[in-house]
Amino acid sequence: MGKCSDDNKINIDAANPCNPPQPSCPSESLAKKQPQNEPLAWFGKMIQNCYEYASDAKAKGKRIVGIMCEYTPRELIMAADAVPVCLCGGSAEMIPPAEEHLPANLCPLIKSTYGYHIQKANPFLEMADLIVAETTCDGKKKMYELMAETRPMYVLELPQKPTDSDAMAHWASELRKLKTKLENHFGVKVTDEKIRQAIGVMNRERQLRRELAELMKSQLPPLTGRQLLEFKSNISGISADFEQYTEAIKLFKTQKDNFRRDPRVRVLMTGVPMVHGAERVLDIIESHGGLVVCMDNCTGLKPILEDVDETAKDPILALAEKYLRLPCSVMTRNDRRLEVLRNLVAEYRPQCVIELIWQACITYDVESYLVKKLAEKELGIPYLRVETDYSPSDSARIALRVEALFETVSQETREQRCSS
Ligand code: SF4
Ligand code: SF4
Repeated sequence: MGKCSDDNKINIDAANPCNPPQPSCPSESLAKKQPQNEPLAWFGKMIQNCYEYASDAKAKGKRIVGIMCEYTPRELIMAADAVPVCLCGGSAEMIPPAEEHLPANLCPLIKSTYGYHIQKANPFLEMADLIVAETTCDGKKKMYELMAETRPMYVLELPQKPTDSDAMAHWASELRKLKTKLENHFGVKVTDEKIRQAIGVMNRERQLRRELAELMKSQLPPLTGRQLLEFKSNISGISADFEQYTEAIKLFKTQKDNFRRDPRVRVLMTGVPMVHGAERVLDIIESHGGLVVCMDNCTGLKPILEDVDETAKDPILALAEKYLRLPCSVMTRNDRRLEVLRNLVAEYRPQCVIELIWQACITYDVESYLVKKLAEKELGIPYLRVETDYSPSDSARIALRVEALFETVSQETREQRCSS
């Protein structure tokens, strides 16, 4: 940690890519070194790219704001001339130190994020001038209290009955309070015009990522699910990323299926977010005959399905309307998640649904009953629930269950062909 490599690049441990990047030495811009037509290679260095971007921004006097949930509107932070950075932890190594303060029986995402905090091992967290959190699940809320003992933090109160008549007014008021907090904390003015500009940038990013994801609707998708997952950044609105998204769409859109069909089993993954470094279950699925054509979670389509109205008279209300529609399991009821799943199954035509649940994630775990019922009873496709944490100790067991699921799918497909 802390050493410069010979060629002055940020040094990331290849054996453990979820480790935080090493502090950088003065180096040329990565953007200049990167071949322009290699979007996959570009996003393969996402953490390095973000580290360099955030360091440059900070050196130029911009503020860094850490976020830990998709309910936090990045637009408001960008409108305060600050850089929003995702701080969610995906490293198993950060869990033992976190358990010195937190109960072992807690979601690994929360523990890993907190482990980075007490180890001071996430350079983005160390750079952060403010952390914006929100009242989502109980584990996160209580973890934030501990983190706030030593870090500047602002917590948004998220209404959890999204269809209640006063929910929207309350959420809009929370976002207005955040705007005031950002203005006071950073001594800036957040104007409607700046918010609209930030909405434009985020809408563009959502459109580009959506367009890439939609390529997976093909019967011969040009990407794997893992490759698609790589196409996102811990920092939004980086113009070099936009160039690479555009390049990728151009590159992969031209690949024709020529009426061929990918022989792998098409999978829709749902459930908890798979943050950087925590992609193990996706890798198991795709190394055992599956192709993840759709991910509805917060690291997939969920936050990018809808845009914000750029022309709205009240841009904060427009933000509130978009973000309150996010179908997270912390909401009650969360019928919109089932509605979204129905649409995604129709569009992406998966042959099965695999739900990932981080251990001790009560809300997604309870909701899995409804998702299973939707998949098996209403949509008529097999469903598998995988509950795990960041440790690879159960990988062989998960692989066996995935193989059994794919065998069932193949058997059903054979029977359908015979009877048609
Ligand atoms: S799953 Fe829910 S709590 Fe987690 S990042 Fe998404 S919206 Fe936030
Ligand atoms: S995965 Fe579940 S328990 Fe973990 S942070 Fe998200 S909602 Fe909370």
